[in-house]
Amino acid sequence: MDTSAAGPPAFSDAELERFMALALEESHHALPGCLPNPPVGCVIVRHGIVVASGFTGAPGMPHAEAAALRALPVSGAADDLTLFVTLEPCAFFGRTPSCAQAIVSSGIRSVFVGTLDPDLRNDGAGIEIMRRAGVDVRVGVLEGPVRAFISQYLSSGQKA
Ligand SMILES: [Zn+2]
Repeated sequence: MDTSAAGPPAFSDAELERFMALALEESHHALPGCLPNPPVGCVIVRHGIVVASGFTGAPGMPHAEAAALRALPVSGAADDLTLFVTLEPCAFFGRTPSCAQAIVSSGIRSVFVGTLDPDLRNDGAGIEIMRRAGVDVRVGVLEGPVRAFISQYLSSGQKA
């Protein structure tokens, strides 16, 4: 393994939008099973290649991020992985563990988020958990198209 190339690579804006578009495509598969939770999609990238993807399952089943983390190949370090997710990872422990915490635990150091989750239990708290743990997080990649799809499923109220 070439350790000199360790750490997440830099992405051009075009690459960022391409991978977020793939996450957005994944999120379409979440419907209608995920409802009343929002349809979220996630891809995990290593060296410019998608190595895992996931979307939110039925209530009580893994969210998109957890599904993608489970789909990761076992081999290889996590610090050269970059995670793209359409919606802010959840900060709260509901029917499933917090995705923000799961991402931190995975060792992934680089995360791109489409848009924030207005759910009052989240609303930036998921971003905060990751940043406080030293994860590099950028919000707002491909936000227009992401919001155009997911907004109708978001609210500030209680969700499963
Ligand atoms: Zn979650």
